[in-house]
Amino acid sequence: MKKPRPPIVSVLGHVDHGKTSLLDAIRKTRVAAKEAGGITQSIGASVVKEKSGRDITFVDTPGHAAFNNMRSRGARLADIVLLVIAADDGVKPQTKEALGFIQQAGVKMVVVLTKIDLATSQPEVAIGQLEKEGVLFEGRGGDTPLVKVSAKEGKGLDELLELLVLVAEVQGISGDSEAILESVVIETNKDNRGPLVSLVVKNGTLKVGSWVYAEGTAAKVRGIFDASGMSVKQVLPGYPALVLGFETLPEVGSVVSGNKEKVGIQVKAEKKNSSRSESELTIILKAKSAGSLEALIANIPENVEVLTGSVGEVNESDVMLAKDAGSLIFVFESKVANQVKKLADNDGIKIYEFDIIYKLVDKLKEITESAHEKVLGKANILQSFPFNDKQVAGCKVKNGTIARNKVLVIERDDKELGRVKIISLKKQKDDVQSVSQGEEFGVIFVPQLDFRVGDMLVSVEN
Ligand code: GDP
Repeated sequence: MKKPRPPIVSVLGHVDHGKTSLLDAIRKTRVAAKEAGGITQSIGASVVKEKSGRDITFVDTPGHAAFNNMRSRGARLADIVLLVIAADDGVKPQTKEALGFIQQAGVKMVVVLTKIDLATSQPEVAIGQLEKEGVLFEGRGGDTPLVKVSAKEGKGLDELLELLVLVAEVQGISGDSEAILESVVIETNKDNRGPLVSLVVKNGTLKVGSWVYAEGTAAKVRGIFDASGMSVKQVLPGYPALVLGFETLPEVGSVVSGNKEKVGIQVKAEKKNSSRSESELTIILKAKSAGSLEALIANIPENVEVLTGSVGEVNESDVMLAKDAGSLIFVFESKVANQVKKLADNDGIKIYEFDIIYKLVDKLKEITESAHEKVLGKANILQSFPFNDKQVAGCKVKNGTIARNKVLVIERDDKELGRVKIISLKKQKDDVQSVSQGEEFGVIFVPQLDFRVGDMLVSVEN
């Protein structure tokens, strides 16, 4: 039987408009202190008690990127989205972006005007800007609620929670604890207990000992921790949980279900597994959370290869790896310690830092475009024999064409050995200007480098 359940609430808004502060302020005053024995680690969501005793689940959203990722996977995670706007700053690009997401997801929105304690705050200006964007407020011709708060002074928080309970009631947000489990992954992690999956139960009950299924992976639930970090036997609709028992990590935003068939329909979009020689750029990616990392990887241009992508601060071994692999380091919201920056500087390794996903992606595009080098063809070196004082490479064209007047890159194990110029290109005994796919040829190039049978010739636009 369906019963009202806690609404699942996530927070969107422009950077620095106060999303984190708002969540912190709500948590600080309303979450019961952690009991002894609870784990200290966040599970990606928290449960807040409103005055009347009703619970509200807040997702510690990693931001727009993750929200977008979840939306694109068809999993409607949040029941209500808080659109946070700083009253002193008004509508900004990411506010508009958030409005777009909310509209497309068809999810209920509550506008939170924050920082109203500031002397420079102008709530009416922000409201006017939102109306211009098509937001229709309650009492002004529409049904979008608006709350004014100050996270700093703790003002308006009770009103906000009260409103959320009311909206949940009006929206009829409910769940059936007897139904088949339906939940959405909000964070993933690994520690000495193995893969850790944080999820929010939307319907049904998550139970220790039961089998759950995600796309490409299944788990017998070995253990569950609730939002306060306590080990529990089951989790009811509307509540978050940290689950032990997965062998491999399901993706953030994917559905974890009690029914095998329910997850089979979502097909994982595999990134093109290009070899290094085909990608123009390799990067080491560091992000602050698994959610944003995953969203980033989904948005990386095709011609960029992510050598490693991980959560956490940039460390010395990232710099070492970048040096070995000739990669750049791209950082999203993660920290880079000063000594790591110094090390990178000394080694000539570039670290790019971002806190907006599209800026990071734009930078990648810019770099690859400026370094754009068109591959015209590739050939394998099958033999090597002397001719006069030089070594001839006997080759076969793998794809495209190898032309006399173009630069050749010699590669070994996908790494560039060097660049050379062709001084002789022959098919059988005849001099030719170019050879194409499937043809065998002999080539002499300078400098001769130390090429070997097995190396690859790559012809590139000069
Ligand atoms: P986020 O990027 O949206 O998560 O923004 P933060 O929560 O990190 O806040 C950005 C800045 O605004 C920080 O310097 C906060 O201290 C400040 N801030 C957030 N909420 C308030 C508020 O209610 N009043 C004032 N005066 N400052 C705030």
